[in-house]
Amino acid sequence: MPTTPAAHRPVPESALSAAESAISSPTVALPPGLPYAGRAAGLVGSVIDSSTSLLHKQQHDIVRLAMGSPAAEAVPAAILAGIAETQLARPDSYDYAATEGDPPLHAALLDVLRGTSDETTADRLTVTAGGMQGLDLFCKLFVDPGDLVVVESPTYTNGSATALSYGAQVLEVPVDDNGMDVDALEALVAAAGRLPKAIYTIPTFQNPSGATLSLERRHRLLELARRWGAMVLDDDPYGLLRFDGDPLPTLRELGGGDPLVFSVRTFSKIVAPGLRVGWVDTAPELQPLLISAKQAMDTCTNLPAQRLVTGFLTGGHLTDHLVTQRAEYRRRKEAMHAALTEHFGGIAHWTDPDGGFFLWVTLDNGVDAADLFEVALAEGVAYIPGSAFSPSGRFRDALRLCFASTPPDRIHEGVARLRRAVDLQTKG
Ligand code: PMP
Repeated sequence: MPTTPAAHRPVPESALSAAESAISSPTVALPPGLPYAGRAAGLVGSVIDSSTSLLHKQQHDIVRLAMGSPAAEAVPAAILAGIAETQLARPDSYDYAATEGDPPLHAALLDVLRGTSDETTADRLTVTAGGMQGLDLFCKLFVDPGDLVVVESPTYTNGSATALSYGAQVLEVPVDDNGMDVDALEALVAAAGRLPKAIYTIPTFQNPSGATLSLERRHRLLELARRWGAMVLDDDPYGLLRFDGDPLPTLRELGGGDPLVFSVRTFSKIVAPGLRVGWVDTAPELQPLLISAKQAMDTCTNLPAQRLVTGFLTGGHLTDHLVTQRAEYRRRKEAMHAALTEHFGGIAHWTDPDGGFFLWVTLDNGVDAADLFEVALAEGVAYIPGSAFSPSGRFRDALRLCFASTPPDRIHEGVARLRRAVDLQTKG
């Protein structure tokens, strides 16, 4: 492993131009006449989130392969309602909570994580309003305007948007079947001529590609981060939803408590996203800073929701719930693969994740997935265009399909409709 900092070594011309075009800071138009903060111009909307409201407005039958939500039938609503009957009948469940999290939730979470790759201690845990708040807290603590933040390409652009909202410049690094290409990471950072402040990665069943960062790359990524003094933003909402293959150690575990690793976790995919409960796992010395940052943001995470999650964990429901969910998601992924083979064989290729929610489809027939969207919606199927997963709008030939939230028969119907949309688009 070379010891010279990557930023000081000569780099090939091709990598240089790639880095220049990969750095982007999209801006939005600000209505005139108001005394905006500089950062307001760095706010970018989320195509992913906006598709929720767009779909709510549609009147016709749509197979919804767009949003990354757990299956409606997988949400343990009856169990949560039972917990609510006792927990939410107590007036103290409506009080302000401790900023770092309700102590019973801390205790329950420590218990659930014991023996897993995310085993931790109370002084490392801060409960957050979902994973998104973890990403925001990270950027609030570590990203200054102009800082370089590495993101995967494609990536979960709500994460890159958070960095952009703090004035970051983002450097997109390609993802392949083994997750972020760490050789490209090294070359692109060298070509950028300066070191990143942070590396944002979704290492397991990545959103949107479904790819998982290999063990070797996990080690190399940590090595590079240490060499550069860069933070690793380890966003892993899907790791517990593995339905095939052997689990890999999380970056949290491989980091061995290194303060450079900042881990973001959420109950959104394993219980329900509307609860808005997640946590961050950080070096203990960061916790007071996180508490101050969170107090200046929302005081505490919604206490009734924390109590529902606590009841779910202490009642021992999570283990069974995950077993059921994993089996069902495998069935759904297989259904989506079968449908894609039937309707898209020869004109597209797609990924084969061992868990999580998403498949990434690349169209090989020149169809623009962003242009296709309206036709597909009219045909009764929704997906997220690939360009929504790149801050610089790459991947117009790709799209993300969520297999998790739709039963197999509807998945078949949705993929058939998608093929009809492609035919209309290419013939029209
Ligand atoms: N990170 C990734 C990779 C995600 O896919 C999501 C949700 N789609 C989040 C973070 C945000 O999680 P939450 O809904 O808990 O805020």
